[in-house]
Amino acid sequence: MPVFSHSEFDGHAEVAFCHDVDSGLKAIIALHNLNRGPALGGCRMWRYANEDEALTDALRLARGMTYKSALANLPFGGGKSVIIGDSRSMKSEALFRAMGRFVNSLGGRYIVAEDVGISVDDVEIMGRETKFVAGTRKGGVGDPSPGTAYGVFMGIRAAVKHKLGKDDLGGITVAVQGLGHVGRHLCRYLAGDGARLVVTDIDEQAMKAVAAEFGGQAVHPDAIYDAAAEVYAPCALGATVNDETIARLKTPIIAGSANNQLAEARHGDMLQQRGILYAPDYVINAGGIINISHEGPGYDKAKAFAHIAQIHDTLAEIFQRAEATGDSTADAADRIAEERFKGTRRATSAAA
Ligand code: NAD
Repeated sequence: MPVFSHSEFDGHAEVAFCHDVDSGLKAIIALHNLNRGPALGGCRMWRYANEDEALTDALRLARGMTYKSALANLPFGGGKSVIIGDSRSMKSEALFRAMGRFVNSLGGRYIVAEDVGISVDDVEIMGRETKFVAGTRKGGVGDPSPGTAYGVFMGIRAAVKHKLGKDDLGGITVAVQGLGHVGRHLCRYLAGDGARLVVTDIDEQAMKAVAAEFGGQAVHPDAIYDAAAEVYAPCALGATVNDETIARLKTPIIAGSANNQLAEARHGDMLQQRGILYAPDYVINAGGIINISHEGPGYDKAKAFAHIAQIHDTLAEIFQRAEATGDSTADAADRIAEERFKGTRRATSAAA
């Protein structure tokens, strides 16, 4: 299995293959770029069909974290780890302790947090073997979704200001797809700012509850793409912005929390050609990681949320840059991130 010539290899600094015989742990830790600081990123546990699929995920996700932290102006590089296995049947204390020892062996170049298939409890078990963990209860942050939702709210305001020239969301209709951890908090912020809501979820109960609480209109999951609204806020799945949905969407703005919203990179260009303003997902959904960057004994929520609010200005800069250069907003975001991480180099070992 090639690593340096792998299609997702992008000059990654380090890729560690970890095997613990006793617990059966098989994991890959990928560190992409450490110029801004130690690589912070979640650990994902997934039933990968084969090792190449696991390596592909680790390389791609680690690179994404470099861009995300750079654009959020955090003193972190990008890294991610994957554990190959079924999170429903293969979890054990021994497995997570072994993972913690591998994280520790990197001497602080990698800080591990939660991701798909990994809970706060699992990370806390890793934390018995290493201090290089984030997003634990001890750190004071807990559930990242209120911070993520606040960042998305501020991002929607930036997009509405740029595209429609309005300072608040009074009279603006937002179509929110997915009313889970992030979507529900987002609806609260939106309604509080005077927005009208069109909401959907495959969970009918959740949909009715949110519609009743915030006075929104509940629609069938497939009807969300046809909603008469100014903003489409994808807060459920990835890849919902694709050939089919772009042809249907009537909103001049796309801004939501979901990861990997564009089905393919070319859809960023397609949105630009159609005059639809897209808030790049990894910029607008960085509130959770910004919050984590404040964790510790002196955690101050007001300070952390003031930092999250800066997503507004970051997006405003991206929108202006894209307009000035003719790039898509997705490309403009990538260029700004690269300016921030390619030129800098900080000490990274044992920095956590
Ligand atoms: P969640 O699982 O709590 O909520 C997702 C909701 O989407 C669920 O209520 C689910 O029923 C609904 N859903 C699934 N498929 C749907 C469909 N086809 N149509 C409508 N609704 C559908 O997840 P979450 O934590 O709220 O995260 C939402 C998105 O934001 C995810 O893509 C996640 O990766 C991303 N994200 C979350 C955070 C965070 O802090 N939680 C941070 C960054 C990015």
